[in-house]
Amino acid sequence: MNLKDHIREVPDFPKPGILFYDISTLLAHPDAWQVAMGRIAKAVAPRAPDVLAGIESRGFLVAAPLALKLGLGFVMVRKKGKLPGKTVRHEYALEYGTDTVEIQEGAIEPGQRVVILDDLLATGGTLNAAADLLTKVGANVVGAACLIELTFLKGRERTAIPVDSLIAYD
Ligand code: 5GP
Repeated sequence: MNLKDHIREVPDFPKPGILFYDISTLLAHPDAWQVAMGRIAKAVAPRAPDVLAGIESRGFLVAAPLALKLGLGFVMVRKKGKLPGKTVRHEYALEYGTDTVEIQEGAIEPGQRVVILDDLLATGGTLNAAADLLTKVGANVVGAACLIELTFLKGRERTAIPVDSLIAYD
């Protein structure tokens, strides 16, 4: 199955000039979603993670079903202010300004092997922010995986984390 057939390309979203790769069409197609989860499981399992971390919000849609499939726990990396209880934060630079990601204190045991999941890798900024946060709480970040990679943005070259992706646009 060519998973690209199930990705909708939306011009001028969220801003004029941006071509957005929409995974809603893949998630709405149970066979395609099943195939995607099977392929990503094959890539992620050899990294022998203890826990999967999903990046808000579409990363949750990849990480949670994959965690169930692999028999692993799932933790959320969220934007600031969304998680109850004590949290640990990491602020990172954007092109203009800063953003903050957050995780619940105690969500990861120090030394646990973690793979980070998101829907799409572009510049790698989001992945690096999640990896920095996870490292701060003692995780051993052993890999990352995503459905889509925009290879022309070279995000893979801007991160020290080994990345697997299923669909490439170049
Ligand atoms: P990066 O930080 O690598 O530049 O951007 C990746 C983040 O932006 C991911 O969390 C992803 O959800 C989001 N993103 C950027 N462009 C797209 C796109 O075209 N489609 C989707 N589904 N997500 C995108």
